[in-house]
Amino acid sequence: MSTAAAYSVSAADGRFEKVTIERRELGAHDVLIDIKYAGICHSDIHTARNEWHGTTYPCVPGHEIAGIVAAVGSAVTRHKVGDRVGVGCMVDSCGECAACVAGEQSYCLRGATMTYNTPVPEAFQPGGHTLGGYSTQVVVTENFVLSIPEGIALDQAAPLLCAGITLYSPLRHWNTGPGKRVAIIGMGGLGHVGVKLARAMGAEVTVLSQSLRKKDDGLRLGAQHYYATSDEQTFRELRGRFDLIINTVSANLPIEDYMRLLNLDGTLVILGLPDRPLAVQPFTLAAYRRSLAGSMIGGIPQTQEMLNFCAEHGIGAEVEVISADRIDEAYDRAVASDVRYRFVIDAATM
Ligand code: NAP
Ligand code: ZN
Repeated sequence: MSTAAAYSVSAADGRFEKVTIERRELGAHDVLIDIKYAGICHSDIHTARNEWHGTTYPCVPGHEIAGIVAAVGSAVTRHKVGDRVGVGCMVDSCGECAACVAGEQSYCLRGATMTYNTPVPEAFQPGGHTLGGYSTQVVVTENFVLSIPEGIALDQAAPLLCAGITLYSPLRHWNTGPGKRVAIIGMGGLGHVGVKLARAMGAEVTVLSQSLRKKDDGLRLGAQHYYATSDEQTFRELRGRFDLIINTVSANLPIEDYMRLLNLDGTLVILGLPDRPLAVQPFTLAAYRRSLAGSMIGGIPQTQEMLNFCAEHGIGAEVEVISADRIDEAYDRAVASDVRYRFVIDAATM
């Protein structure tokens, strides 16, 4: 067993405090990682504040982890000491179900072991539930450790481990490429990476944001069009426009209004996860044979493919690096959409 510094929260309305946690002893297939940076995903906020009603406290969030391998178990072949590596939303899965066999671990039929807030045996994580990346070290089985290519700085790479794969996977699944009109709703952590990825895949990219405040950035990151959803004219002008709409918004939206922006056979993919049902008129779906779909992160092989794609296209997240004592403030700012475009904790400040 080893110890690590971490930032933990003890109640839905609690503040983050510095604690010491234990990490399991290095098993034959385990990798010990010195964490350098951990991104702050809105899912961390939903969990820390118990907005999904399933949080076990004390909770150490963080599933956008970038660091350096500090030690490896005797049977590890994929990584070696000194390697630049990342860990995303999952640290294990059954490895046997149809989804896992297909490399789609985020859809593990027995439920993947998430990087934080999943009940596990004490031998896996002392304390009985997984503790995430707001920490100085983590132990992860080698199959869930990704290689971060040279050419992506570690602080800009960290958010790719969740935001990057969460956008890359549906963009690929729904065949994004030249000739496709793609809209991204929400220019936040997920959304801004989605703009970069969709453009690099060759699509015509539109951002649908609450206001035009971030328009210059959106165009700089690769969008050709940028609209404010606070302007009703937007919904009239863009009716029937898109092949694919990706909703990254963390709050409830009038999804019906957005469904009408889909063209024939268009799909609206839900990524944002507020704890509220969606309302769509059957007529809106039936007209133009539209689809309403969802997508959850992405598998481990595709996560590596995404990192390689990002390195090839010079894509990293736009980050604001903060010290660990500013996590509470960063949460409040993220909820207020006041982030450009991902807060990343510098683990050296722990
Ligand atoms: P984020 O950085 O906070 O960005 C969310 C964006 O949504 C904001 O920047 C804002 O964009 C827009 N927004 C926020 N509140 C809004 C409101 N009341 N009305 C309209 N638009 C609003 O969050 P994130 O980290 O990208 O995560 C977004 C959501 O995705 C969260 O619910 C998270 O849990 C979920 N998520 C899902 C998966 C998955 O696998 N499906 C993976 C990771 C995260 P504008 O300022 O441009 O309007
Ligand atoms: Zn996330």
